[in-house]
Amino acid sequence: MFNKVLYIKYHTTALKLGITAFKTIPFKSEKSFINGQWVSAQSGKNLDVFNPATGTLVGTVPDMNTADTQIAIDSASKAFETWKNTTAKERSQILRRWYSLMLENQNTIAEIMTAESGKSLQESNGEVIYGNSFVEWFSELARQVRGEVIPSSDRSKKILIHHQPIGVVGLITPWNFPHAMITRKASAALSVGCTVVVKPGEDTPLTAVEIMKCAEKAGFPPGVINLLTSSRENTAEIGRLLCKSPLVAGISFTGSTTVGKILYSQCAPGIKRIGLELGGNASFIVYKSANLDKAVEGALTSKFRNCGQTCVASNRFLIQADIFDAFVDKLVAKVKNLKIGNGFDEGTQIGPLINEAQLHKVSNFVEDAVSKGAKVLVGGKPASHIGKLFYEPTVLSNITSNMLVYSEEVFGPVISLIHFNTEEESLHIANSNDVGLASYFYSEDISQVFRVSHNLEVGMVGVNVGLISAAEAPFGGIKQSGLGREGSHLGIEDYTYIKYTCLGNL
Ligand code: ADP
Repeated sequence: MFNKVLYIKYHTTALKLGITAFKTIPFKSEKSFINGQWVSAQSGKNLDVFNPATGTLVGTVPDMNTADTQIAIDSASKAFETWKNTTAKERSQILRRWYSLMLENQNTIAEIMTAESGKSLQESNGEVIYGNSFVEWFSELARQVRGEVIPSSDRSKKILIHHQPIGVVGLITPWNFPHAMITRKASAALSVGCTVVVKPGEDTPLTAVEIMKCAEKAGFPPGVINLLTSSRENTAEIGRLLCKSPLVAGISFTGSTTVGKILYSQCAPGIKRIGLELGGNASFIVYKSANLDKAVEGALTSKFRNCGQTCVASNRFLIQADIFDAFVDKLVAKVKNLKIGNGFDEGTQIGPLINEAQLHKVSNFVEDAVSKGAKVLVGGKPASHIGKLFYEPTVLSNITSNMLVYSEEVFGPVISLIHFNTEEESLHIANSNDVGLASYFYSEDISQVFRVSHNLEVGMVGVNVGLISAAEAPFGGIKQSGLGREGSHLGIEDYTYIKYTCLGNL
Protein backbone atom coordinates (compact mmCIF):
# COMPACT_ATOMS: atom_id res chain seq x y z
CA MET A 1 0.00 0.00 0.00
CA PHE A 2 1.11 3.56 -0.68
CA ASN A 3 2.54 4.83 2.58
CA LYS A 4 1.14 8.36 2.75
CA VAL A 5 2.31 9.03 6.28
CA LEU A 6 5.91 8.24 5.44
CA TYR A 7 5.66 10.16 2.19
CA ILE A 8 4.50 13.34 3.91
CA LYS A 9 6.96 12.89 6.79
CA TYR A 10 9.90 12.42 4.45
CA HIS A 11 8.82 15.26 2.19
CA THR A 12 8.47 17.68 5.11
CA THR A 13 11.82 16.66 6.60
CA ALA A 14 13.48 16.87 3.22
CA LEU A 15 12.19 20.37 2.66
CA LYS A 16 13.42 21.45 6.10
CA LEU A 17 16.86 20.09 5.31
CA GLY A 18 16.87 21.63 1.85
CA ILE A 19 17.14 18.22 0.17
CA THR A 20 15.94 18.01 -3.44
CA ALA A 21 13.43 15.30 -2.74
CA PHE A 22 11.64 12.90 -4.99
CA LYS A 23 13.72 12.74 -8.04
CA THR A 24 12.40 9.31 -8.87
CA ILE A 25 11.08 7.01 -11.59
CA PRO A 26 7.57 6.89 -13.07
CA PHE A 27 5.29 4.39 -11.30
CA LYS A 28 5.84 0.85 -12.64
CA SER A 29 2.97 -1.59 -13.03
CA GLU A 30 4.72 -4.72 -14.24
CA LYS A 31 4.08 -8.35 -15.06
CA SER A 32 6.15 -11.48 -14.67
CA PHE A 33 7.68 -13.29 -17.63
CA ILE A 34 6.79 -16.94 -18.24
CA ASN A 35 7.08 -18.90 -21.49
CA GLY A 36 7.86 -15.75 -23.44
CA GLN A 37 4.68 -13.99 -22.22
CA TRP A 38 4.16 -11.12 -19.77
CA VAL A 39 1.71 -12.53 -17.27
CA SER A 40 -0.17 -11.73 -14.05
CA ALA A 41 -0.36 -14.12 -11.11
CA GLN A 42 -3.03 -16.83 -11.48
CA SER A 43 -4.47 -15.53 -8.22
CA GLY A 44 -4.63 -11.98 -9.59
CA LYS A 45 -2.66 -10.75 -6.56
CA ASN A 46 0.05 -8.13 -6.73
CA LEU A 47 3.08 -7.23 -4.64
CA ASP A 48 3.86 -3.57 -3.90
CA VAL A 49 7.43 -2.31 -4.16
CA PHE A 50 8.60 0.63 -2.02
CA ASN A 51 11.54 2.98 -2.16
CA PRO A 52 13.42 2.39 1.12
CA ALA A 53 14.79 5.95 1.07
CA THR A 54 11.38 7.62 1.04
CA GLY A 55 8.78 4.96 1.81
CA THR A 56 6.98 5.81 -1.45
CA LEU A 57 5.36 3.19 -3.63
CA VAL A 58 7.40 2.78 -6.81
CA GLY A 59 5.58 -0.08 -8.50
CA THR A 60 3.77 -3.39 -8.38
CA VAL A 61 4.51 -6.85 -9.73
CA PRO A 62 2.49 -10.09 -9.69
CA ASP A 63 2.56 -11.96 -6.41
CA MET A 64 3.02 -15.44 -7.80
CA ASN A 65 2.56 -18.72 -5.98
CA THR A 66 3.08 -22.43 -6.63
CA ALA A 67 0.45 -22.57 -9.40
CA ASP A 68 2.46 -20.03 -11.40
CA THR A 69 5.70 -21.76 -10.44
CA GLN A 70 4.46 -25.05 -11.90
CA ILE A 71 3.65 -23.30 -15.18
CA ALA A 72 7.12 -21.75 -15.25
CA ILE A 73 8.78 -25.10 -14.52
CA ASP A 74 6.74 -26.83 -17.25
CA SER A 75 7.66 -24.11 -19.76
CA ALA A 76 11.35 -24.28 -18.86
CA SER A 77 11.28 -28.05 -19.09
CA LYS A 78 9.68 -27.99 -22.55
CA ALA A 79 12.08 -25.29 -23.74
CA PHE A 80 15.05 -27.33 -22.52
CA GLU A 81 14.29 -29.99 -25.15
CA THR A 82 15.29 -27.58 -27.93
CA TRP A 83 17.62 -25.15 -26.09
CA LYS A 84 19.96 -27.99 -25.09
CA ASN A 85 20.45 -28.79 -28.77
CA THR A 86 21.29 -25.26 -29.88
CA THR A 87 24.91 -24.74 -30.85
CA ALA A 88 27.28 -22.94 -28.56
CA LYS A 89 27.56 -20.24 -31.21
CA GLU A 90 23.79 -19.68 -31.24
CA ARG A 91 23.67 -19.39 -27.45
CA SER A 92 26.70 -17.11 -27.46
CA GLN A 93 25.07 -14.75 -29.96
CA ILE A 94 21.82 -14.43 -27.98
CA LEU A 95 23.76 -13.85 -24.76
CA ARG A 96 25.81 -11.16 -26.50
CA ARG A 97 22.63 -9.41 -27.67
CA TRP A 98 21.29 -9.57 -24.11
CA TYR A 99 24.50 -7.97 -22.90
CA SER A 100 24.32 -5.20 -25.53
CA LEU A 101 20.67 -4.44 -24.73
CA MET A 102 21.38 -4.15 -21.01
CA LEU A 103 24.31 -1.88 -21.83
CA GLU A 104 22.03 0.35 -23.93
CA ASN A 105 19.48 0.41 -21.09
CA GLN A 106 22.01 0.84 -18.29
CA ASN A 107 20.64 4.18 -17.07
CA THR A 108 17.04 3.00 -16.95
CA ILE A 109 17.98 -0.20 -15.11
CA ALA A 110 20.17 1.73 -12.66
CA GLU A 111 17.42 4.26 -11.88
CA ILE A 112 14.92 1.49 -11.20
CA MET A 113 17.47 -0.24 -8.98
CA THR A 114 18.09 2.92 -6.97
CA ALA A 115 14.35 3.47 -6.58
CA GLU A 116 13.70 0.01 -5.15
CA SER A 117 16.98 -0.76 -3.34
CA GLY A 118 18.04 2.69 -2.13
CA LYS A 119 21.64 2.33 -3.28
CA SER A 120 23.18 5.41 -4.85
CA LEU A 121 22.74 5.92 -8.57
CA GLN A 122 26.49 5.66 -8.97
CA GLU A 123 26.49 2.25 -7.26
CA SER A 124 23.50 1.09 -9.28
CA ASN A 125 25.28 2.02 -12.50
CA GLY A 126 28.35 0.17 -11.23
CA GLU A 127 26.24 -2.89 -10.51
CA VAL A 128 24.70 -2.95 -13.99
CA ILE A 129 28.20 -2.79 -15.48
CA TYR A 130 29.37 -5.54 -13.10
CA GLY A 131 26.29 -7.72 -13.61
CA ASN A 132 26.55 -7.27 -17.35
CA SER A 133 30.19 -8.35 -17.33
CA PHE A 134 29.01 -11.90 -16.49
CA VAL A 135 26.72 -11.97 -19.51
CA GLU A 136 29.59 -10.80 -21.69
CA TRP A 137 31.95 -13.34 -20.07
CA PHE A 138 29.64 -16.33 -20.49
CA SER A 139 28.72 -15.29 -24.04
CA GLU A 140 32.44 -15.60 -24.77
CA LEU A 141 32.94 -18.75 -22.70
CA ALA A 142 29.98 -20.60 -24.27
CA ARG A 143 32.12 -21.57 -27.26
CA GLN A 144 35.13 -22.56 -25.17
CA VAL A 145 33.47 -25.41 -23.25
CA ARG A 146 35.36 -28.40 -24.62
CA GLY A 147 35.33 -32.13 -24.06
CA GLU A 148 38.37 -34.40 -23.75
CA VAL A 149 39.74 -37.58 -25.21
CA ILE A 150 41.62 -39.55 -22.55
CA PRO A 151 44.17 -42.14 -23.72
CA SER A 152 42.84 -45.60 -22.90
CA SER A 153 45.01 -48.44 -21.61
CA ASP A 154 43.02 -50.74 -23.90
CA ARG A 155 43.99 -50.40 -27.58
CA SER A 156 40.46 -51.25 -28.73
CA LYS A 157 38.77 -48.49 -26.70
CA LYS A 158 38.46 -44.72 -26.74
CA ILE A 159 37.45 -42.66 -23.71
CA LEU A 160 35.50 -39.48 -24.52
CA ILE A 161 34.28 -36.79 -22.13
CA HIS A 162 31.58 -34.21 -22.82
CA HIS A 163 29.97 -31.52 -20.66
CA GLN A 164 26.20 -31.60 -20.94
CA PRO A 165 23.60 -29.17 -19.52
CA ILE A 166 21.85 -30.49 -16.41
CA GLY A 167 18.36 -29.22 -17.39
CA VAL A 168 16.00 -26.72 -15.74
CA VAL A 169 17.61 -24.68 -12.97
CA GLY A 170 15.81 -22.65 -10.28
CA LEU A 171 17.67 -19.43 -9.48
CA ILE A 172 16.77 -17.78 -6.17
CA THR A 173 18.37 -14.38 -5.71
CA PRO A 174 18.50 -11.66 -3.02
CA TRP A 175 17.72 -7.93 -2.96
CA ASN A 176 21.23 -6.63 -2.29
CA PHE A 177 22.45 -7.06 -5.88
CA PRO A 178 19.17 -7.08 -7.81
CA HIS A 179 20.89 -7.19 -11.20
CA ALA A 180 24.21 -8.97 -10.77
CA MET A 181 22.97 -11.97 -8.78
CA ILE A 182 20.53 -12.81 -11.57
CA THR A 183 22.92 -12.28 -14.47
CA ARG A 184 25.80 -14.10 -12.75
CA LYS A 185 23.73 -17.25 -12.40
CA ALA A 186 21.51 -17.05 -15.47
CA SER A 187 24.23 -16.30 -18.02
CA ALA A 188 26.33 -19.27 -16.85
CA ALA A 189 23.33 -21.64 -16.93
CA LEU A 190 22.03 -20.41 -20.29
CA SER A 191 25.47 -20.47 -21.92
CA VAL A 192 25.77 -24.24 -21.52
CA GLY A 193 22.19 -25.04 -22.58
CA CYS A 194 20.21 -25.04 -19.32
CA THR A 195 16.88 -23.23 -19.04
CA VAL A 196 16.06 -21.14 -15.97
CA VAL A 197 13.29 -20.05 -13.60
CA VAL A 198 14.35 -16.92 -11.71
CA LYS A 199 12.86 -15.97 -8.32
CA PRO A 200 14.23 -12.52 -7.35
CA GLY A 201 14.23 -10.93 -3.88
CA GLU A 202 10.79 -9.57 -2.94
CA ASP A 203 12.17 -6.08 -2.19
CA THR A 204 13.71 -5.65 -5.65
CA PRO A 205 11.66 -7.38 -8.37
CA LEU A 206 11.50 -4.36 -10.71
CA THR A 207 15.16 -4.62 -11.71
CA ALA A 208 14.53 -8.29 -12.53
CA VAL A 209 11.65 -7.25 -14.81
CA GLU A 210 14.00 -4.90 -16.72
CA ILE A 211 16.50 -7.73 -17.12
CA MET A 212 13.73 -9.88 -18.61
CA LYS A 213 12.63 -7.12 -21.01
CA CYS A 214 16.15 -7.13 -22.43
CA ALA A 215 16.22 -10.95 -22.51
CA GLU A 216 12.96 -11.00 -24.48
CA LYS A 217 14.38 -8.56 -27.04
CA ALA A 218 17.62 -10.52 -27.22
CA GLY A 219 15.65 -13.45 -28.67
CA PHE A 220 15.74 -16.26 -26.10
CA PRO A 221 13.06 -18.74 -27.24
CA PRO A 222 9.90 -18.89 -25.05
CA GLY A 223 10.45 -20.76 -21.79
CA VAL A 224 14.24 -20.57 -21.83
CA ILE A 225 14.27 -17.76 -19.24
CA ASN A 226 11.34 -17.24 -16.87
CA LEU A 227 10.68 -14.80 -14.03
CA LEU A 228 8.54 -15.47 -10.97
CA THR A 229 7.99 -12.43 -8.76
CA SER A 230 6.50 -13.15 -5.35
CA SER A 231 5.92 -11.86 -1.84
CA ARG A 232 7.77 -13.25 1.16
CA GLU A 233 4.60 -15.13 2.13
CA ASN A 234 4.66 -17.27 -1.02
CA THR A 235 8.43 -17.67 -1.20
CA ALA A 236 8.90 -20.72 0.99
CA GLU A 237 6.32 -22.73 -1.01
CA ILE A 238 7.84 -21.64 -4.31
CA GLY A 239 11.28 -22.65 -3.05
CA ARG A 240 9.98 -26.03 -1.89
CA LEU A 241 8.39 -26.74 -5.27
CA LEU A 242 11.55 -25.75 -7.16
CA CYS A 243 13.60 -28.08 -4.93
CA LYS A 244 11.16 -30.99 -5.08
CA SER A 245 9.96 -30.90 -8.69
CA PRO A 246 11.36 -33.80 -10.71
CA LEU A 247 11.46 -31.43 -13.70
CA VAL A 248 14.04 -29.20 -11.99
CA ALA A 249 17.61 -30.50 -12.14
CA GLY A 250 19.30 -27.97 -9.89
CA ILE A 251 19.05 -24.90 -7.69
CA SER A 252 21.38 -21.94 -7.40
CA PHE A 253 20.80 -19.69 -4.42
CA THR A 254 22.35 -16.52 -3.03
CA GLY A 255 21.13 -15.37 0.35
CA SER A 256 21.22 -16.12 4.04
CA THR A 257 22.84 -19.22 5.51
CA THR A 258 19.53 -20.05 7.22
CA VAL A 259 17.61 -20.25 3.95
CA GLY A 260 20.55 -21.95 2.22
CA LYS A 261 20.34 -24.78 4.74
CA ILE A 262 16.60 -25.18 4.13
CA LEU A 263 17.12 -25.41 0.38
CA TYR A 264 20.04 -27.82 0.76
CA SER A 265 17.91 -30.18 2.83
CA GLN A 266 14.97 -29.84 0.42
CA CYS A 267 17.26 -30.83 -2.47
CA ALA A 268 18.61 -33.88 -0.64
CA PRO A 269 15.78 -36.37 -1.36
CA GLY A 270 16.14 -35.75 -5.11
CA ILE A 271 19.99 -35.61 -4.94
CA LYS A 272 19.66 -32.29 -6.77
CA ARG A 273 22.54 -30.16 -7.81
CA ILE A 274 22.79 -27.06 -5.62
CA GLY A 275 25.01 -24.01 -5.69
CA LEU A 276 24.96 -21.91 -2.52
CA GLU A 277 26.40 -18.42 -2.01
CA LEU A 278 25.68 -17.72 1.64
CA GLY A 279 26.71 -15.34 4.37
CA GLY A 280 30.21 -14.45 5.52
CA ASN A 281 31.92 -12.73 8.41
CA ALA A 282 34.81 -11.17 6.52
CA SER A 283 37.88 -10.06 8.44
CA PHE A 284 39.77 -6.97 7.36
CA ILE A 285 43.26 -7.25 8.81
CA VAL A 286 45.78 -4.42 8.87
CA TYR A 287 49.36 -5.45 9.70
CA LYS A 288 51.98 -3.00 10.92
CA SER A 289 53.83 -2.95 7.57
CA ALA A 290 50.66 -1.82 5.72
CA ASN A 291 50.29 1.39 3.79
CA LEU A 292 47.71 2.95 6.11
CA ASP A 293 46.18 5.34 3.59
CA LYS A 294 45.55 2.50 1.17
CA ALA A 295 44.21 0.37 4.03
CA VAL A 296 41.73 3.08 5.05
CA GLU A 297 40.61 3.46 1.44
CA GLY A 298 40.14 -0.33 1.18
CA ALA A 299 38.27 -0.42 4.48
CA LEU A 300 35.75 2.15 3.24
CA THR A 301 35.24 0.33 -0.05
CA SER A 302 34.84 -3.09 1.46
CA LYS A 303 32.55 -1.91 4.26
CA PHE A 304 30.27 0.79 2.97
CA ARG A 305 29.36 -0.40 -0.54
CA ASN A 306 25.58 -0.85 -0.59
CA CYS A 307 25.45 0.48 3.00
CA GLY A 308 27.36 -2.58 4.23
CA GLN A 309 24.71 -4.92 2.84
CA THR A 310 26.96 -7.29 0.89
CA CYS A 311 28.02 -10.81 1.81
CA VAL A 312 31.68 -9.94 1.17
CA ALA A 313 31.53 -6.74 3.24
CA SER A 314 34.24 -6.60 5.91
CA ASN A 315 32.68 -7.28 9.27
CA ARG A 316 35.52 -7.40 11.81
CA PHE A 317 38.48 -5.07 11.48
CA LEU A 318 41.59 -6.54 13.08
CA ILE A 319 44.30 -3.93 13.52
CA GLN A 320 47.82 -4.68 14.76
CA ALA A 321 48.42 -2.91 18.10
CA ASP A 322 51.49 -0.93 16.82
CA ILE A 323 49.42 0.99 14.27
CA PHE A 324 45.99 0.82 15.91
CA ASP A 325 45.69 4.49 16.89
CA ALA A 326 47.15 5.82 13.65
CA PHE A 327 44.79 3.69 11.54
CA VAL A 328 41.74 4.53 13.64
CA ASP A 329 42.39 8.29 13.49
CA LYS A 330 42.58 8.21 9.70
CA LEU A 331 39.54 5.93 9.41
CA VAL A 332 37.32 7.95 11.73
CA ALA A 333 38.16 11.18 9.90
CA LYS A 334 37.00 9.62 6.61
CA VAL A 335 33.87 7.97 8.01
CA LYS A 336 32.73 11.29 9.49
CA ASN A 337 32.72 12.76 5.99
CA LEU A 338 30.67 10.05 4.26
CA LYS A 339 27.57 11.51 2.64
CA ILE A 340 24.40 9.73 3.64
CA GLY A 341 21.14 10.31 1.76
CA ASN A 342 18.73 9.48 -1.03
CA GLY A 343 20.47 7.46 -3.75
CA PHE A 344 19.21 9.90 -6.39
CA ASP A 345 20.95 12.86 -4.75
CA GLU A 346 24.28 13.93 -6.16
CA GLY A 347 27.24 12.67 -4.16
CA THR A 348 25.34 10.22 -1.93
CA GLN A 349 27.67 7.50 -0.64
CA ILE A 350 25.45 5.78 1.91
CA GLY A 351 21.81 5.00 1.20
CA PRO A 352 19.18 3.50 3.48
CA LEU A 353 18.99 -0.05 4.74
CA ILE A 354 16.65 -2.15 2.66
CA ASN A 355 13.80 -2.67 5.13
CA GLU A 356 12.76 -2.48 8.77
CA ALA A 357 14.06 -5.96 9.57
CA GLN A 358 17.54 -4.85 8.51
CA LEU A 359 17.29 -1.60 10.46
CA HIS A 360 16.30 -3.49 13.61
CA LYS A 361 19.11 -5.98 13.13
CA VAL A 362 21.77 -3.27 12.79
CA SER A 363 20.37 -1.24 15.71
CA ASN A 364 20.23 -4.35 17.91
CA PHE A 365 23.80 -5.33 17.08
CA VAL A 366 25.11 -1.87 17.99
CA GLU A 367 23.02 -1.67 21.17
CA ASP A 368 24.21 -5.15 22.17
CA ALA A 369 27.85 -4.12 21.65
CA VAL A 370 27.48 -0.84 23.55
CA SER A 371 25.72 -2.58 26.45
CA LYS A 372 28.72 -4.94 26.69
CA GLY A 373 31.31 -2.16 26.73
CA ALA A 374 31.92 -1.13 23.09
CA LYS A 375 32.86 2.51 22.53
CA VAL A 376 31.16 4.48 19.73
CA LEU A 377 33.77 6.51 17.82
CA VAL A 378 31.35 7.74 15.11
CA GLY A 379 27.63 7.24 14.47
CA GLY A 380 25.97 4.54 16.53
CA LYS A 381 22.30 5.31 15.88
CA PRO A 382 19.61 5.51 13.18
CA ALA A 383 19.75 8.66 11.03
CA SER A 384 16.00 9.16 11.35
CA HIS A 385 16.23 12.83 10.38
CA ILE A 386 17.01 11.65 6.82
CA GLY A 387 14.50 8.83 6.61
CA LYS A 388 13.06 5.93 8.52
CA LEU A 389 15.52 3.32 7.23
CA PHE A 390 18.78 5.26 7.40
CA TYR A 391 21.56 4.34 9.83
CA GLU A 392 24.64 6.45 10.54
CA PRO A 393 27.98 5.08 9.32
CA THR A 394 29.38 3.75 12.58
CA VAL A 395 32.77 2.87 14.06
CA LEU A 396 32.97 0.87 17.31
CA SER A 397 36.04 0.00 19.36
CA ASN A 398 36.59 -2.09 22.53
CA ILE A 399 35.00 -5.08 20.81
CA THR A 400 34.91 -8.38 22.70
CA SER A 401 34.07 -11.90 21.60
CA ASN A 402 30.74 -12.01 23.45
CA MET A 403 29.24 -9.30 21.22
CA LEU A 404 27.00 -10.04 18.22
CA VAL A 405 29.11 -7.78 15.98
CA TYR A 406 32.05 -10.11 16.66
CA SER A 407 30.45 -13.41 15.78
CA GLU A 408 27.77 -12.51 13.24
CA GLU A 409 27.48 -10.64 9.98
CA VAL A 410 26.04 -7.19 10.74
CA PHE A 411 24.98 -6.44 7.12
CA GLY A 412 24.99 -2.72 7.75
CA PRO A 413 27.31 0.33 7.91
CA VAL A 414 29.14 -0.67 11.09
CA ILE A 415 32.89 -1.11 11.56
CA SER A 416 33.98 -3.11 14.62
CA LEU A 417 37.62 -2.58 15.60
CA ILE A 418 39.63 -5.30 17.32
CA HIS A 419 43.34 -5.08 18.06
CA PHE A 420 45.85 -7.91 17.99
CA ASN A 421 49.58 -8.33 18.61
CA THR A 422 50.88 -11.19 16.44
CA GLU A 423 50.10 -12.61 13.01
CA GLU A 424 49.20 -15.90 14.67
CA GLU A 425 46.64 -14.15 16.84
CA SER A 426 45.10 -12.37 13.84
CA LEU A 427 44.71 -15.68 11.99
CA HIS A 428 43.23 -17.34 15.03
CA ILE A 429 40.57 -14.62 15.34
CA ALA A 430 39.86 -14.55 11.59
CA ASN A 431 39.53 -18.34 11.36
CA SER A 432 37.43 -18.83 14.50
CA ASN A 433 34.34 -18.90 12.39
CA ASP A 434 31.89 -21.42 10.97
CA VAL A 435 31.67 -19.37 7.76
CA GLY A 436 34.45 -18.62 5.28
CA LEU A 437 33.53 -16.42 2.33
CA ALA A 438 36.06 -13.58 1.97
CA SER A 439 38.83 -11.89 3.93
CA TYR A 440 41.01 -8.88 3.24
CA PHE A 441 44.38 -7.92 4.59
CA TYR A 442 46.93 -5.15 4.14
CA SER A 443 50.63 -5.85 4.41
CA GLU A 444 53.76 -4.76 2.54
CA ASP A 445 55.70 -7.77 3.80
CA ILE A 446 55.85 -10.22 0.89
CA SER A 447 56.45 -13.32 3.02
CA GLN A 448 53.52 -12.38 5.20
CA VAL A 449 51.36 -11.85 2.11
CA PHE A 450 51.89 -15.46 1.00
CA ARG A 451 51.65 -16.91 4.53
CA VAL A 452 48.46 -15.14 5.51
CA SER A 453 46.63 -15.63 2.21
CA HIS A 454 47.47 -19.34 2.43
CA ASN A 455 46.28 -19.68 6.02
CA LEU A 456 43.03 -17.72 5.90
CA GLU A 457 40.12 -20.17 5.90
CA VAL A 458 37.99 -18.51 3.22
CA GLY A 459 37.18 -18.95 -0.47
CA MET A 460 38.41 -15.47 -1.48
CA VAL A 461 41.23 -13.24 -0.24
CA GLY A 462 41.85 -9.58 -1.07
CA VAL A 463 45.47 -8.56 -0.47
CA ASN A 464 45.92 -4.78 -0.34
CA VAL A 465 42.54 -4.36 -2.04
CA GLY A 466 38.99 -3.98 -0.77
CA LEU A 467 37.06 -4.99 -3.88
CA ILE A 468 37.62 -8.45 -5.34
CA SER A 469 34.58 -9.51 -7.37
CA ALA A 470 35.06 -9.89 -11.14
CA ALA A 471 33.49 -11.98 -13.90
CA GLU A 472 36.83 -13.68 -14.59
CA ALA A 473 37.35 -14.74 -10.96
CA PRO A 474 35.69 -17.62 -9.06
CA PHE A 475 33.32 -16.25 -6.41
CA GLY A 476 32.36 -18.52 -3.52
CA GLY A 477 33.05 -19.65 0.00
CA ILE A 478 33.98 -22.58 2.19
CA LYS A 479 32.54 -23.90 5.48
CA GLN A 480 28.97 -22.66 5.91
CA SER A 481 29.46 -19.90 3.33
CA GLY A 482 28.40 -22.20 0.55
CA LEU A 483 29.02 -24.65 -2.22
CA GLY A 484 30.31 -24.10 -5.73
CA ARG A 485 31.78 -21.12 -7.53
CA GLU A 486 30.21 -18.42 -9.70
CA GLY A 487 31.91 -16.54 -12.51
CA SER A 488 35.22 -17.54 -14.10
CA HIS A 489 35.58 -20.67 -16.26
CA LEU A 490 34.50 -22.68 -13.17
CA GLY A 491 31.10 -20.99 -13.11
CA ILE A 492 29.62 -23.52 -15.55
CA GLU A 493 30.27 -26.50 -13.26
CA ASP A 494 27.02 -26.12 -11.32
CA TYR A 495 25.12 -26.30 -14.61
CA THR A 496 26.84 -29.16 -16.43
CA TYR A 497 27.43 -32.83 -15.79
CA ILE A 498 30.21 -34.90 -17.25
CA LYS A 499 29.21 -37.55 -19.78
CA TYR A 500 31.79 -40.30 -20.24
CA THR A 501 31.40 -42.31 -23.42
CA CYS A 502 33.44 -45.45 -23.99
CA LEU A 503 33.90 -46.51 -27.62
CA GLY A 504 34.80 -50.22 -27.69
CA ASN A 505 35.83 -52.89 -30.18
CA LEU A 506 37.63 -50.37 -32.33
P1 ADP B 1 17.59 -11.85 3.29
O1 ADP B 1 17.31 -12.11 4.74
O2 ADP B 1 18.80 -11.08 3.08
O3 ADP B 1 16.41 -11.37 2.53
P2 ADP B 1 17.12 -14.50 2.44
O4 ADP B 1 18.03 -15.65 2.43
O5 ADP B 1 16.00 -14.54 3.40
O6 ADP B 1 18.03 -13.23 2.67
O7 ADP B 1 16.52 -14.24 1.00
C1 ADP B 1 17.23 -14.44 -0.21
C2 ADP B 1 16.26 -14.97 -1.26
O8 ADP B 1 15.72 -16.20 -0.78
C3 ADP B 1 15.07 -14.07 -1.54
O9 ADP B 1 14.71 -14.19 -2.91
C4 ADP B 1 13.98 -14.66 -0.67
O10 ADP B 1 12.69 -14.39 -1.16
C5 ADP B 1 14.31 -16.14 -0.80
N1 ADP B 1 13.81 -16.99 0.29
C6 ADP B 1 13.58 -16.66 1.58
N2 ADP B 1 13.12 -17.74 2.27
C7 ADP B 1 13.06 -18.77 1.39
C8 ADP B 1 12.66 -20.15 1.46
N3 ADP B 1 12.26 -20.69 2.60
N4 ADP B 1 12.73 -20.90 0.35
C9 ADP B 1 13.16 -20.37 -0.81
N5 ADP B 1 13.54 -19.08 -0.96
C10 ADP B 1 13.49 -18.30 0.12
